[in-house]
Order: sequence, then C-alpha cells, then structure tokens
Amino acid sequence: MNTDGGKPFIIPVFLPHLGCPHQCAFCDQQAITSVRQKSPSPGDIRNLINRFLRYKGQRRSTAQVAFFGGNFLGLTPARIHSFLAVADRFVQDGKIDGIRFSTRPDTIDDERLDLLEGHQVAAVELGAQSMDDRVLALSMRGHTAADTVSAVGLLKKNGYEIGLQMMVGLPGDDKDRLYATGRKIVNLKPDFVRIYPTAVLKNSRLAEWYQSGKYRPPTLEKSITLVKQLFLYFRKHDISVIRMGLQAFENSAKNGSIMAGPYHPAFGHLVHSELFLDMARLLLREKGHHRDAVTLRVHPRSISKIRGLKNSNVDALQKEFDLRTVRVIPGPLLPKEGLQIAESGPVVTYSNLDCDL
Ligand code: SF4
Repeated sequence: MNTDGGKPFIIPVFLPHLGCPHQCAFCDQQAITSVRQKSPSPGDIRNLINRFLRYKGQRRSTAQVAFFGGNFLGLTPARIHSFLAVADRFVQDGKIDGIRFSTRPDTIDDERLDLLEGHQVAAVELGAQSMDDRVLALSMRGHTAADTVSAVGLLKKNGYEIGLQMMVGLPGDDKDRLYATGRKIVNLKPDFVRIYPTAVLKNSRLAEWYQSGKYRPPTLEKSITLVKQLFLYFRKHDISVIRMGLQAFENSAKNGSIMAGPYHPAFGHLVHSELFLDMARLLLREKGHHRDAVTLRVHPRSISKIRGLKNSNVDALQKEFDLRTVRVIPGPLLPKEGLQIAESGPVVTYSNLDCDL
C-alpha cells in the first residue's frame, strides 16, 4: 500500500547540464563547463540507486529513478542507452517501478523517442519555462513555445506521462504573460507541473544583466503570490504541482552561487502558508468575528502552514483583524488543505479561494 498520497519515491540522478549545447541566460555557464567532464558512469548510477533504495523504507511502495539537471535526450545515443540500461535492470528486478527524465522540448522528435523503445521510461519532463516566444528569446532558451506544443503531442502519442516545468521571473515576463503561459500549459493537459522561481546565478548572463541594471528579479513576496495563483489554477484543472521552488539549484544555494532573485529554501512552504493566510482571511471576513480571540483548527500536518514562517500569518491576522489572540489547534479529521474556526462554522479549503487566472 502506498502511504504517501501516491507520490513515488524519487531516486534522483543529477546530470548537471549534460547533453545541453545551449546557454540559457539564467544558466550558470561556468558550472556548465566545470561539470561537463563529470558525467557519472553506469557504475556510479548503479551505486547511487542502491544507496537510495536502502533509505526507501516502507512508507512508499513505488519508486522511480529520475535523471534530471541536464538535457537527457541531448546525450549521445550510446549514453542514453547505457544510463537507461542501468535503471532498467532495477525495474526488471522489481526494485523500482519506472524511469523519468527531464529534457528540452526541442530534443523531442520521432528519432529520439525511438531511442527509448524497450526501456522502462514512464514519464518525461519538459523544460518549457515559458509559453511566450518573446520571453523565451530574451531568456536565450533557443526554442519556441511551438516546440513545447509539438513535444507534448509526440509524447502523448507515445503514451508517456508528461511533466512541464515553468519559470517565474524570466526576463521580459510579467503577470499577464506568465498567466498566459499558465493557461497554455493547462491547454496542453500535462500530468504534472513544476514551478521554479528564477534565481540569478553567478556566472550567468542574467547575473551580468542584473549587475548592469538590465534585469530586475521580482521580489520573493511577489513571486510567492504569482506562484500561488498558478498553483490554484493548475489545481482547479486537476493538474498536480509537484514542486514549487528550486531543486536543481539547491547545491548552488549552499555554495553561494545564487546572487539574487526570489530564492528561499522553503519556497513551496511559503506558498502554502500564503494560501492558509488567504483562507483565514476569507473565514474571518465572510463569516465575521465578534470576539477578540480566535482559534483556528487545521490538520496537524498543516499547523506550520497556518502559522507561517516565524508565526508571520498569526501576527498578520492579529493586526489585520485587531485580534488579541490567534490560537492554532490540530484537527486530525480535517483535510490537509482545510481550515476551520474552532467549535463552529464551515471548513474552507483551497477550492474556496479565488484564482486570478
Ligand atoms: S538551463 Fe538547461 S537548457 Fe538551459 S543551458 Fe542550462 S542545462 Fe541547458
């Protein structure tokens, strides 16, 4: 039985920039050259998968190997086969359930997809980043929105599960263009999406533009609100958002490569916290409150979300509604996305929130 909401246990195999001949404006070009030689060998990948499987435990019954951080279908056919063959073996032995990888939209064509035949690939993630050609050009992506549309069509025809990655805060992007990207992504009906805020990495073109004043990243607060709206929109269309915030760059954050931008190690948590704040506002505004103390009830796993980072939501509610105290108590029977004013009243969930898109 899967006890973790159906999410597979992901075994990440990081292939930083491998297979990518491009130079996107937000990519750390020095990192590209320094890691190019550092391709893992099939033996490295085997050891890594074995190591992760030892940690898998019983909580999740399904596991997938994920090749990410590079442009998987841009690798040489020999390398694609050798990497996939290592992971295939684990599927054949019943130790993992499938393989996923991330790749650029312009690497998807019939010939490249033929390379996957006979391998155990379940899902393909495309770095769409934006569906606005001007934004893609200004970000030096080297592909167009039409490439993403055609890649999705081909992947669907071949029966793969599809994930689309998009970015917030790209050069030339604004709220309207971003929301249009969200709508176009929904029209493509992917199985899941990831939303990454744009970080200004040292040694990137974006860093030069940032230093010269040509590029200004959106603030963290603004990015959280934009991602929140996208999350609500995808949720409304039954598309799961499996990640909000950076993942591939986490090492960059640790070694100080992020120069600016709306980076936060708990970005996704901040988005959920804002959603809980919105729900609390909705309840307090719509249902009214005639007391100076309020008790909010949430699922135990959502307590930190309603509280906000360093109790910021509680402080904001106290100030906004002139409350003497705001207590938060656990309500194990509530849905994880639910909130109730204790003792009485309806339960609101994310579904009750308005979406701008
Ligand atoms: S962001 Fe991805 S596609 Fe762009 S240059 Fe870096 S590795 Fe290549």
